[in-house]
Parts: sequence; C-alpha cells; structure tokens
Amino acid sequence: MKGIQAYYPSEDGCSAEREKLMKQINQMLINIDNLKEPAKLTLGEAPESMDSFYNHLSQQAVIPDESMSIEKVITQLTELAEGHRYVNSRYVANAAPLSNIPGILGNLIMVLLNGNNLWDVEGSGAAMAEVKITSMLSKLAGYDADNSGGYTTWGGQGAVFNSLRLAVAKQFPDSNEEGVPRNLYCFCSELAHYSLYKSMEAVGIGTKYLIRVKVKEDHSMDTDDLQEKMEQVVLKGGHPLYILASTGTTDTFGIDDVKAIKKAAEDLEAAYALAPVFIHADAAMGGMYTFFNDYDFEKNPLGFNREVLYVLESYQSKLKNICLADSLVFDFHKLGQTPYTSSLFLVKNKADFSHVDLDHEETPYVGNRSYGSYHTSYTLECSRAGSSIPIYA
Ligand SMILES: *Cc1c(COP(=O)(O)O)cnc(C)c1O
Repeated sequence: MKGIQAYYPSEDGCSAEREKLMKQINQMLINIDNLKEPAKLTLGEAPESMDSFYNHLSQQAVIPDESMSIEKVITQLTELAEGHRYVNSRYVANAAPLSNIPGILGNLIMVLLNGNNLWDVEGSGAAMAEVKITSMLSKLAGYDADNSGGYTTWGGQGAVFNSLRLAVAKQFPDSNEEGVPRNLYCFCSELAHYSLYKSMEAVGIGTKYLIRVKVKEDHSMDTDDLQEKMEQVVLKGGHPLYILASTGTTDTFGIDDVKAIKKAAEDLEAAYALAPVFIHADAAMGGMYTFFNDYDFEKNPLGFNREVLYVLESYQSKLKNICLADSLVFDFHKLGQTPYTSSLFLVKNKADFSHVDLDHEETPYVGNRSYGSYHTSYTLECSRAGSSIPIYA
C-alpha cells in the first residue's frame, strides 16, 4: 500500500497490514519495557531538574520541515517515557494509578473506533457502553436505574461543575436566559476538594458565597454546624442552593454522612418554606468503595483480614447513603485503574437534565435521530471521548 493510506489501519482487515501495526505497537512496548527497573520510581533516568527546563524545550521546539519514518516517530514518542514516574510494587501514589490491562484494552478500542460520544450515529459503541455503565453504576450506588441518568465527563471537577450548573437551572429556570441570580450560597466541608471553589467562580455565583462547614474528628462534615450555617444564611436573606457532600475527602478520606446532610436540608426547607437544596455526593475518590455496599462481612467471601474488614465495614455504613444525593460521580481514573480521563456523572432523576437541555432546533446533529433515545444536548462538552468504553472494560 502506498501514499497517505499507509498511515491508517487497513480498510479490508488485511493480515499483513495488521502485523505491521502490531510490530509498531510492539516496538513501543519494547522501548518502554527496556526502561523498567522494579527498584526505581521512574522509567529510565529522570531529567535533571533546573529552572530553565521547560524554557529550553520551548525554545528548541519546531515543526519538522520533512516527514520522517514511523520508526523514528516511535523513537521520539517513547523518548517521552524517559524519566516518567511509574507505578510499581515500590511506588503507589494516592489517586494516581497505572491503568490496568482491561483499562488499556478498553482505551485501545475507544481509540480504534474513535467514535464521538456526542451522538450515537458517530459513536455507537461508546453510546452503548455509556448507557450500560450508567445503569450498572446507578444500581450499585442505590439509584433507581429506570429514573437515573448519566454521562461521562471531564473529571470529578467537571461533575461538580455540571451539578452546580444543574442546581442553579433547576431552582431558577429563568437563569439560563437571564443569568445567575445573586445571593446564592453553597456549602461544603473544610476538607472538600477545591472543585466547588473553582466551579463557583466559573458558574458566576462568586466564591465569597461558598460557606465552609467544620469537620468532626473523623474528617466528615459536622452536620450541626451545617444546619447552623445554612440557617444564618437564610436569616440574612441569602438563598441556600447547593451542598457538596464529600464522600471520601481526597487526602484524609473523611466520608460525609449524606443521610444527616439530607435531613439538615429538609429541616431547613420545612422551617423556612424553601425549595429543595441540591446535594451532590462527590464520590470521585470514594465511589469505588460502593462495590462493597452489599459485601457480606460475616461470610467474607474475599477473605479480607480483620483490619481491612473493619475499615470496609465503616465505609459501607456511610456509602450506602449516597443514593440520597441528587447527583454523584465516579472517577475511574483514580481508584478504578483506567486511563485519564474517565469519570461518570450520575443524576438520580434524569428529568433534571431537561433544565439544562438545548432545543432540538439548536442541535442539528445531536440525539434522538438514530437508533433510539440517546440524547446528550445537556452535556457541557460538544465532542466527547468514548471514555465509557475503558470504564466498561
Ligand atoms: C480528585 C477529586 C476531585 C477532582 O477530580 P478530577 O477527576 O481530578 O477532576 C474532586 N473531588 C474529590 C473529592 C477528589 O478526590
């Protein structure tokens, strides 16, 4: 085969061309494997650290005048692995895993199909995987999968942003046209991730309307303090909009009690005749532990030791309540061992998406025009990667 077509996988499943591609992939694996040394934290040698490091790279960088062989491309690409941090039995970092083999294979299928998850006509595989994982993880988290909805998005931070935008539009349907009203307040614990701070900037609510709630000794939110702070907001004429329940804080792993948070919100709503305060369970870190929500600690079929059982049981007692939240997130690129970025944003009532949806006329190539009802004009992204596929894997 000649010309530009040589740069693409074959169109007819030709085995000679497949073997050529396999050889190239194999060469990349060999180059990386040659850098591995189990006693070290990096692949090969880390570059010397100096202040001018990136400046230097930037100054040297030019687009080549001439094309080069695939072999040379592979050499240059695998040079990027030099000095790369590498997770192994000597090195485990919080929330920064190595993708496992199913994750790598899922990502490879995603890349080979290169579907756009914007529309099922463009990305049928990713659409099917997304519908499946939305249902599977809804059931796992305790949502009713017939009523819940979800989509993959840009990280745990993206899920906080998406949920905050939803909370505003749900309570203030005019805000999509008129802009965000003033005096809206959001609440999270002192140990919550900064995603909410950033999202309040970006949504336009303003970070001075973010109220930090005290934590208890176990690093979870002090819901008495939440109650008190929400009440103070109401008495001063403010409007409580949104509570971020950290269900697993990033570093200290405090798990907020969603049931107690929900009760505090409902008590406030009843006392002051308020619309429901939106609750997002930020399970970016903790979500993976919901896989133990039905674990039988008596029979202990996986044979965990006592210390592990004790910890998992305490997680279970808290995480089984995340289904009380209006939305939640799973970050598979943290404890789920998939490549970046693979996060699933879930809402308890998929009807909530109608508040942030676009009109059919505004979305000529999105949704409900192909195999069934796959409609994604409520996402903040336009084109989306098929990251549901590595999650499914
Ligand atoms: C990591 C983390 C986030 C941010 O998630 P990204 O996937 O990095 O965007 C948000 N909240 C918590 C609790 C986290 O641990």
